[in-house]
Amino acid sequence: MQVTRNKIATTAGPSEWFTGTVYIDAVAMPSGDARLSASSVHFTPGARTAWHTHPNGQTIFVTEGVGLAQRRNGPIEVIRPGDRVFFDPGEDHWHGAAPTRFMTHLAMLDVDEKGKSATWGEHVSDAEYAAAPAIEEG
Ligand code: MN
Repeated sequence: MQVTRNKIATTAGPSEWFTGTVYIDAVAMPSGDARLSASSVHFTPGARTAWHTHPNGQTIFVTEGVGLAQRRNGPIEVIRPGDRVFFDPGEDHWHGAAPTRFMTHLAMLDVDEKGKSATWGEHVSDAEYAAAPAIEEG
């Protein structure tokens, strides 16, 4: 049994992987044969991930605010607290906050055998992001 107290500093999401300001709190860390990696990710309004894939897929579970998520060539979905989204292994996608709202989600995945959690691509452009539906209509 290992208790990790709530004393670990929140980290900023790196600009290679995110547009805008994002903060990350670790929830579960892979260890030995246990591959689970989980984080609580806090997106400020307009902030979002870059396009990326996960080797074993990913589940996100929205806990606060209003967010957006899109897979490559799919519509942008408005996501709200209690919604969960699963991205298939290798499915290119992004997720983030709505333009005028904060959004927090739990992000859960199994890292691969080398400990890798994601492969990162280009940033989501302002034009791509602006295609989101109005959140009132979500
Ligand atoms: Mn993802």
